[in-house]
Amino acid sequence: MQDLGYEHGKAGTRYEFKRRTFEREDIGPYIQLHMTRCILCYRCTYVANQITDGRVHGVLDRGDHAEISTYISKAIDNDFSGNMIDVCPVGALTDKTFRFKNRVWFTKPVDAHRNCDNPKCCGKVTLWLRGNDVYRVTARKDEWGEVQSYEGKTGWICNTCRFDKKKTSDWEIEGPTKINRHSVISQGHYNNLVTPQETISKVLSGRNPKLLMDIHDESGVNKRK
Ligand code: SF4
Ligand SMILES: [Zn+2]
Repeated sequence: MQDLGYEHGKAGTRYEFKRRTFEREDIGPYIQLHMTRCILCYRCTYVANQITDGRVHGVLDRGDHAEISTYISKAIDNDFSGNMIDVCPVGALTDKTFRFKNRVWFTKPVDAHRNCDNPKCCGKVTLWLRGNDVYRVTARKDEWGEVQSYEGKTGWICNTCRFDKKKTSDWEIEGPTKINRHSVISQGHYNNLVTPQETISKVLSGRNPKLLMDIHDESGVNKRK
């Protein structure tokens, strides 16, 4: 949405009134809600409906009083509540086990899976690594940024996989996740790196240009006597 706004010359706001602000709210041990960021898109409520048997989560009040209700806290008993984090487009729902531990663009995403004993969990995830440390576990996303489906079923992951399996030894790592090159995450994350062909020796008819290129040794001119 931000990109669309900028592309159409609408970077500035036309809203003149005081904005609503909210205290951050812990929704169980794993999820934090920051309503100030919420755009009331209802995506988390739809997911809560899908992962629970009865409706336990919705929007309270109307207009500028509307807010994602604290009924969401009833959904946290559900083993799949963490999936609400993955569908929130603005980061209003965040993973407390990852929050502020690292910048997402410093972490490296890899695809991984495990044999999860929860029959509803697809066990296929993206691990966000820094070195060998697993900072965050999320469901895999498709090319539109939506949670990946497998054979027509949405690939939700359970809270055990998401919050408790934070060691690389818990997972079978498949390889680097493909990231859109326009994403900030792709900075420093090079897939299919192609090394440019060496052209200087061609220009110099096969002569080895070591002397020209060697900038790593201390120059004799600068050496102290
Ligand atoms: S998904 Fe995020 S932005 Fe959308 S209603 Fe829920 S908390 Fe708000
Ligand atoms: Zn699982």
